[in-house]
Amino acid sequence: MAGDASESGVPRAKSARWIELAAAINSARTAYYQHDKPTLSDDEYDSHFHELLALEQDWPQLQSGDSPTLSVGGRSSEMFNPVEHLQRMYSLDNAFTSDELAGWLSRVERGINQVPEFLCELKIDGLAVDAVYVDGQLRSLATRGDGRVGEDVTYNAHFIPRVPAALRPPKKGAMPSLLEVRGEVFLPIATFSMINEEQLAQGLSPYANPRNAAAGTLRQRVDRRQEELRLAEQSPTTGERGAAKIARLRAELDLSITRLSGLGLTVHGIGVVEGFEITRQSQGYEFLKALGLPVSNLARVESSYEGVREFISYFGEHRHDVEYEIDGVVIKVDDLALQGQLGETARAPRWAIAYKYPPEVVRTRLLDIQVNVGRTGRITPFAVMEPVKVAGSTVSMATLHNAFEVERKGVLIGDMVFLRKAGDVIPEVLGPVVEARDGSERPFAMPTKCPACGAKLGPASEGDKDYRCPNARTCPAQLRERLSHVASRGALDIEGLGEKAANALLDCGLVEDEGDLFSLAETDLLTCEFFRREPGKGEDRPQLTENAKSMWAQVQSAKARPLWRVLVALSIRHVGPTAAQSLARAFGSIDAIAAAGVAELAEVDGVGEKIAVSVHDWFREPWHQMVITKWRAGGVQLVEKVGESRSAELAGLVVVITGSLAGYTRDSAAAAVTGRGGKVSGSVSAKTSLVVAGENAGSKFDKAMALGVPVVGLAGFEALLAKGLDAALTTIN
Ligand code: NAD
Repeated sequence: MAGDASESGVPRAKSARWIELAAAINSARTAYYQHDKPTLSDDEYDSHFHELLALEQDWPQLQSGDSPTLSVGGRSSEMFNPVEHLQRMYSLDNAFTSDELAGWLSRVERGINQVPEFLCELKIDGLAVDAVYVDGQLRSLATRGDGRVGEDVTYNAHFIPRVPAALRPPKKGAMPSLLEVRGEVFLPIATFSMINEEQLAQGLSPYANPRNAAAGTLRQRVDRRQEELRLAEQSPTTGERGAAKIARLRAELDLSITRLSGLGLTVHGIGVVEGFEITRQSQGYEFLKALGLPVSNLARVESSYEGVREFISYFGEHRHDVEYEIDGVVIKVDDLALQGQLGETARAPRWAIAYKYPPEVVRTRLLDIQVNVGRTGRITPFAVMEPVKVAGSTVSMATLHNAFEVERKGVLIGDMVFLRKAGDVIPEVLGPVVEARDGSERPFAMPTKCPACGAKLGPASEGDKDYRCPNARTCPAQLRERLSHVASRGALDIEGLGEKAANALLDCGLVEDEGDLFSLAETDLLTCEFFRREPGKGEDRPQLTENAKSMWAQVQSAKARPLWRVLVALSIRHVGPTAAQSLARAFGSIDAIAAAGVAELAEVDGVGEKIAVSVHDWFREPWHQMVITKWRAGGVQLVEKVGESRSAELAGLVVVITGSLAGYTRDSAAAAVTGRGGKVSGSVSAKTSLVVAGENAGSKFDKAMALGVPVVGLAGFEALLAKGLDAALTTIN
């Protein structure tokens, strides 16, 4: 097969693949490092890189001097002055599996004939910088660039409070005359989300990950912006245009400075030093901390492989409990002499490895945008994507909220999109990879007719961002959603009446709408196949299934639920548990609420004008009145019984719920608290009475710990609902 091999003996197909991979990696690097706008997901990039490494291992002849495996990714852009680092900056080799990690550990052990102590750190998803201090004063701050020459961003450093302009004199010893440190500039998670919101609001595409956002924030020419503003203010141009330009420039400058001031820094490396001696990296960190440099307090020295693995698995589970995004952990040999013995390759030190966690931002194809009809007729577009694994689950759909959001995100059907799902957060389409378009993509158009009933769609009122289906009474989609909602935990809590049972009731004609639910006789269910089973031994006719019997019994007990739950079950727009409880308390009966005027309703604490109008209008609709009449006839309790309401049990408590609680959705857990008179808040403060932390609880958990607010889990939450705060607190050990 001589024709298949080149002169070097490498099969042509392998050479061709090498060229293909190197080209793909180089163009991905340009997009990522120069423009802060990746075109591939990190996962795709890493897999190309790994394949290239493997190819070069099998065919070393392929590795030319310009191979991406021999260089550190970035390059300095001409936007900034170049700065030569005193000591080279490297990238890191990666391990994605425990086998790859074991391979590295044994290479290290072989290289130095011992098991060293390991310094375990978090791998912050930010961008690497190099800071030089001369006699304790910041001389320069630079990006990594190609590892030898980076970009000078010293001017911007003045606006970043976490980058000290001057070091604190050490208590022991003298200030080092020269100190070069390496670290990660990052964006706290909350700031990342905010910046992406701002990007979208300005019609710009959002950043794919916090690292690119941090890079985009740091790599701004603030000095040029200031100069432009100064010139505009001095220029003789007067009138509207001049003033408008100055206002715009000032707003842009303010935004740049605000964003810069939100950047964080964590130091994780030491370059050239003069004036102090260290033997271990961890000891160096102590010294840097004493000088006032930000060093992570989550780093740990481990003396066994077991300890290293525990560190990796602990932060794999708690990766969202820290203020910044991490994409893995970094394991380093702690002893500097041993680091020296192991040395570096052309691209990365042999004494360190990055263990990468599964990706949380992936790329996938947006196959279609479809719409969903909600229980109040709201039409919600959602993305249908090629199924993709992200953060431990396979995702194929994500809501797009409304037509404005689709436009704001700039996505076209057929686009490659970045999709993000972090922990228990719902998946979100971040935006399109514009560079990957081939012209076959098409824009989404909001349907003009309801996909369920064919009614003409449009905004309910001027300025309403949502399209609605006006056919509230008979649109099958709305009926199904409303019926399931009546049974939901936050409303009448009827177990067994889920989406399938709701469909069966409607399809079999047992109910025309929710009005008929409470006058159903048990035997009526027998007429519908979904609820019956074939006769068993000794039975001469079909029987109700156990599920159907239990559902029917639940429907009967739901008739005696408190009035506020009935109000929630009626699907009145804007009426959730809080407003429903206020109304029930203030008026005491459905008839009194129905008879009240808008002003009277709006006066109720927690109601207000918007809800008042919605409630008032709802009761004026004849078919709504019919639902009430039918429910009354069916035996539903439509008055607030004194003493029966449980709505005050948690009065005065402020509860924060974070993470996922088995058996509850976010809404149903919140409703269970508000339904008992408690308040649910989204953020932890000194006023919080209790934090309920489910699985994958995030930074709120840490904040609660810091503020000394009690934290309970699922058992505590259930005790809270059943018996109140004291019972919940007894579940804390
Ligand atoms: P890297 O991100 O895998 O690791 C090296 C970097 O980790 C260092 O430069 C340092 O800045 C950082 N780091 C964070 N915490 C650290 C700590 N505690 N100690 C030491 N270093 C720490 O390597 P890289 O060369 O910077 O970038 C390669 C990676 O970037 C890829 O694996 C990929 O995830 C991403 N990338 C993606 C694309 C794309 O198209 N999506 C393109 C290029 C690079």
